[in-house]
Amino acid sequence: MTSMQIDLDPEGRRVVIFGDVTGARHAVRRFLSSGATVTLATPAPFPEATDRIGAVRYATLPEPTDAAALLRLIGPAWLIVDVGLTEPLRHRIADLAAHLHTLMINEVPAPSRGQVTLVGGGPGCTRLLTLEACEALREADVVLFDRLAPTEDLTELASAAELIDVGKSPYHHPIPQHSIEHLMISRARRGQSVVRLKGGDPFVFGRGGEEMQACITAGVPVHLVPGVSSSVAVPAASGIPVTHRGLSKSFTVISGHTPPEPGELEGLVRLDGTIVILMGTSNLTQIVAGLTRAGLDAATPAAVIERGFSDDQRSAVSSVGQLPGEARRLGICSPAVVVIGDVITVSPLFAHSAEVGDASGHYSHSAHSRAS
Ligand code: SAH
Repeated sequence: MTSMQIDLDPEGRRVVIFGDVTGARHAVRRFLSSGATVTLATPAPFPEATDRIGAVRYATLPEPTDAAALLRLIGPAWLIVDVGLTEPLRHRIADLAAHLHTLMINEVPAPSRGQVTLVGGGPGCTRLLTLEACEALREADVVLFDRLAPTEDLTELASAAELIDVGKSPYHHPIPQHSIEHLMISRARRGQSVVRLKGGDPFVFGRGGEEMQACITAGVPVHLVPGVSSSVAVPAASGIPVTHRGLSKSFTVISGHTPPEPGELEGLVRLDGTIVILMGTSNLTQIVAGLTRAGLDAATPAAVIERGFSDDQRSAVSSVGQLPGEARRLGICSPAVVVIGDVITVSPLFAHSAEVGDASGHYSHSAHSRAS
């Protein structure tokens, strides 16, 4: 049997959800947030007033043999949602629903045990979230998100969840790392499904490793959903491959947050591959000076791509020696990725710059420079 996905708008409709309070909590919140009138048919006892979810109405789950009570419940329903019903009851309700021509769907119950999912959100736009990331968001009770994570559609993607901005901008940490970890763990210990949504991939300069270790130490189950890392994707947004046959056999991703030591830079230059720098805008002059001192030819092509995949993405291409000046002239700031190496010559930006024959050898580009 093939199944298909149909979008329904439940706003203003009556939805009857069958399931226990814990297992059905995501379905209840999702339908409430979409504007439905929600009844939860659940085994007694009902939760205390303080633990009840919003405007949901609670009804006692009838016995499978009590047709009158079942009809009273589902008669006015526009949609019936089964979240883990027992077989006899599911059968009975499915029969009645078919008779009434009422649509019935089923959902997997939400987990009762707390857990943390470290989710890579990609370089900031919704369309680069993975299917698994979307699923984790859909199943979340709470989402702790970062500044560079894709946040635009978060209320829709995580409609059952509380959203907490723990975003950091460079040199400014509104919520310290240990508090983020504490929050993540304490919510999971309360039985919640916590999504820690980060920019790019959680394990690339994302402190994802530390957060995973903190969960393990605390005995909280932790899962990882890898993400599309800006270190590869943002250069690609300007048509720059990080490796290319005949031009570069390796790429090294470094952090420019604190400029690398001379020895590290010498090793990097000796590799003769592509150099990708994250968090490098403020220290660019110093990093480039270090690289040329370490033997890098100042005429090596280089590029900087700011706010990759956003509507105001900008890129600049020049020689590495001229890149800091060019970036300053354009006012390039964080977030931006710097790429150094011959692979830049593959990009349409570079070709275009040669075509234009800019006497300065610079090529600057504003907005929508995505390679198609
Ligand atoms: N874990 C992330 C990197 C975190 S470090 C990843 O895998 O992508 C943050 C740095 O990533 C920024 O300072 C910037 O250098 C880069 N970055 C992230 N998103 C970006 C974007 N949309 N455009 C340009 N640079 C980006």
